[in-house]
Amino acid sequence: MPYIGRFAPSPTGPLHAGSLVAALASWLDARAHGGRWLVRIEDVDAPRCPPGADQLILAQLAACQLLPDAPVQYQSRRGPLYQPALDRLLAAGLAYPCACSRSEIALAQPARRHGELVYPGTCRNGLHGRAARAWRLRTDGAGPVHWHDRRLGAQQQDVATTVGDFVLRRADGLWAYQLAVVVDDADQGVTAVVRGEDLADNTPRQILLQRALGLPTPSYMHTPLVLGANGEKLSKQNGAQALDLADPAAALQAAAAVLGLPVAGGPPGERLAAWTAAWSAV
Ligand code: GLU
Repeated sequence: MPYIGRFAPSPTGPLHAGSLVAALASWLDARAHGGRWLVRIEDVDAPRCPPGADQLILAQLAACQLLPDAPVQYQSRRGPLYQPALDRLLAAGLAYPCACSRSEIALAQPARRHGELVYPGTCRNGLHGRAARAWRLRTDGAGPVHWHDRRLGAQQQDVATTVGDFVLRRADGLWAYQLAVVVDDADQGVTAVVRGEDLADNTPRQILLQRALGLPTPSYMHTPLVLGANGEKLSKQNGAQALDLADPAAALQAAAAVLGLPVAGGPPGERLAAWTAAWSAV
């Protein structure tokens, strides 16, 4: 099967040292496999995406010579793909409307995991006259999901007990990341997902959705995170600096070091060639 990889940033701000690691790893993996590399702007959560952040990200990638092999796609324009997927799940009895507010869920089931509420399935058997707010995937009966991560090895998670029936379309009408990412990866023919380790936890939800929609499961590799001064994943909140467009080679070198790649010299293009060869050898 021809390799298709992707980098799928949420344009909540410019790329920083942490997001460049995922961009570089996914690009190198695509090149090393003789495959194609796509860029998808994940702007479904429009209120969190400041205007222009997408263009800045694309300019930062271009400065690093990380150039997509096809026109960039925007999730905000792909709603017409997501609705039929939800409709299919509803028709199959695999998804259902939910009337619960966050505080009702907290009251009904105080179990939390990483601060997240586990949805107790209150609306699985109907709304009982209440108005639908969100739409959820049924996870009961699925059993634990086992998958192989190319870097982290064998993984498993029982989505029903750790997350519960999760949201596909949010109460504010926006599409949830889980549905959009699964529909888009399949629609774009993505065969390999290479992304930051903070997203590894989402993989079993995405695998359940792929199964429910009859879509193929790509291979997964989750890359090391860059930690901020407070020991947490680098983010705007803990002081991540936007990548310096004036010195892309230095930014790439720092990202390559996180991936365990050797020091390379010269302009970005020369370094990328050296790292592609090193990546292929792994
Ligand atoms: N849009 C997500 C993010 O920027 C990444 C999604 C993915 O790679 O699956 O965190």
